[in-house]
Amino acid sequence: MIELRIPSPLHPLEDRDGVRIMLKRDDLIHPDFPGNKWRKLKHNIPHDRGQVLTFGGAFSNHIQATAAAGHHFGFPTVGVIRGEERVNPVLAAAADFGMRLTYVSRTSYREKSNPSFIAALHDEFGDFTVIPEGGANPEGVRGCAELVAEIDADFDVICCSCGTGTTLAGVASALPAGRRALGFSVLRGGAFLTDDVRRLQPEDSRNWAIETEFDFGGFARRDSTLDAFISDFRDEHDITLNWVYEAKMMYGLYALIARGRFEPGTTVIAVLA
Ligand SMILES: *Cc1c(COP(=O)(O)O)cnc(C)c1O
Repeated sequence: MIELRIPSPLHPLEDRDGVRIMLKRDDLIHPDFPGNKWRKLKHNIPHDRGQVLTFGGAFSNHIQATAAAGHHFGFPTVGVIRGEERVNPVLAAAADFGMRLTYVSRTSYREKSNPSFIAALHDEFGDFTVIPEGGANPEGVRGCAELVAEIDADFDVICCSCGTGTTLAGVASALPAGRRALGFSVLRGGAFLTDDVRRLQPEDSRNWAIETEFDFGGFARRDSTLDAFISDFRDEHDITLNWVYEAKMMYGLYALIARGRFEPGTTVIAVLA
């Protein structure tokens, strides 16, 4: 049986300008579930262990994690991958976990919620239930909400990075009164994420916001400033931040603290997914 490290540990950092910071180490939940992907999959595992089909880019943590869930919990998985067939560590891991992979052009990929597109996939792969790209559905939100109750420390703000915004939607929905959630978009022009988070929440919890200033040029883009930040952070804390996601959040958080965005005495939980 797979051992998941839940609750994930809290790791305090040194105060910055009077602001307390603690890392919520979701990155330690399990190596086969990179990022927060376990939380988003947990309630998406089919009770009848029927086949699951999901979508993602060639470097998708969600694809790898869905394949791992299929392997560990005993259900078949299909991954529909955007772009040409290729080999990389993520897709190789997914295939090793038994996921069947199929590749579709970027144009077809955009049609992925189209009934005729899904019908063609049923013809090829038989019965399945669909998990949307990134695990962005109500079950995913519910799983992410559970991280809040694990925190056995008093806090004011929870920060997380935003790809689909599912983690932010879940965290914000579960916050005690008076607490806030702050997301950091890793996508260019992440303002549309605000609509996505609203859509993912049954009722807008109105205790959250998204910073769109720290995308470093967009998804999976990096520059020397971000690289230097990651290397300094590693030297200081012996933690390697994920450059696609959490490095941008931590950089943004430190920048906001330096600008005086948080009152001294504020406690911030930063989710390392
Ligand atoms: C997928 C992922 C995220 C983004 O989470 P969303 O719920 O899609 O916003 C953040 N960090 C890591 C490491 C991830 O793998």
